[in-house]
Amino acid sequence: MSKPVFDTVALIGIGLIGSSISHAMRRAGLARRIVGHARTEATRATALRIGLIGTAHATAADAVKEADLVILCVPVGACVRVAEEIGAHLKPGAILTDVGSVKGVLVREVGPLVPDGVHFVPGHPIAGTEHSGPESGFAELFDNRWCILTPPEGTDPAATEKLRIFWQGLGSNVEVMDADHHDMVLAITSHVPHLIAFNIVNTASHLERVTDSEVIKFSAGGFRDFTRIAASDPTMWRDVFLNNRDAVLEMLARFTEDLIHLQRSIRYGDGETLFELFTEARRTRRGIIQAGQDTAAPNFGRPDGGAASTKPAKT
Ligand code: NAP
Repeated sequence: MSKPVFDTVALIGIGLIGSSISHAMRRAGLARRIVGHARTEATRATALRIGLIGTAHATAADAVKEADLVILCVPVGACVRVAEEIGAHLKPGAILTDVGSVKGVLVREVGPLVPDGVHFVPGHPIAGTEHSGPESGFAELFDNRWCILTPPEGTDPAATEKLRIFWQGLGSNVEVMDADHHDMVLAITSHVPHLIAFNIVNTASHLERVTDSEVIKFSAGGFRDFTRIAASDPTMWRDVFLNNRDAVLEMLARFTEDLIHLQRSIRYGDGETLFELFTEARRTRRGIIQAGQDTAAPNFGRPDGGAASTKPAKT
């Protein structure tokens, strides 16, 4: 167990990410006290019942008053409203961070709402599952995953360093980068892949000559893995696309060009090109396994040879 990094930590939003942070904080003893706020009474009651927080506050403003670290764990589209509410109540010297999947918009829109004397260090853990809510979290979610911190220019390096130590205590590796660079990288590694999954699942279900039962029965042919990603929370993903529009559109344009290249190769029977492109893609998969970011076990380590796993898979 480590020495506490913060005395009081306030979680604003207690869903998958907020609850996983709580479990991982408790595992490592990173905070003396965890308090929190969620929008609904039901989530606040669940968070208290399963011990995610010691005190539940009905408003975000009340929750942050004594906190040395405040973590916004709400959808990206809700961050500005929450920041407007808590701004005047943040403790001098406190660190305000978040876990949102888009960073540029938060630096631009939340940054100006943070009072002098409070350090704003946005963050994004690259770890998740398709599950939501306070009961979906688990302590191991961040183990050996990356967390990206995007401190705006002029941030006190000591605050960034303290947050780095905190995330390392949660199990993550930490990298610091510019918010706009983060948004471009994540557009291709996370946002566009989710869009493709949402789209292919809907394309299949709109097909008139393939029945729903056939789509489900033969899903192990690849489709099933897209459906897991496509089961992700619609509110969270709506907010990601509305707030990372430019980078997503740029990556989608490149994706479309490459798709058309594949389409032409199929149309003209260019097997050599197809083979080369598939070999290149396979090398990328091997790189991810070598970097410890996924399992090499057959069928993604599913224990039962194909039926759905009970343990949430990581995105
Ligand atoms: P989640 O499980 O749906 O939890 C969201 C939490 O935010 C809930 O406690 C909810 O309260 C609260 N909330 C929702 N809308 C709100 C609003 N308008 N005002 C105040 N509170 C609100 O979501 P999550 O997966 O933890 O995602 C939270 C953040 O983490 C998002 O910004 C997302 O981009 C980021 N993130 C997610 C993943 C992932 O894989 N899921 C990975 C990395 C980062 P109630 O329960 O009371 O409604």
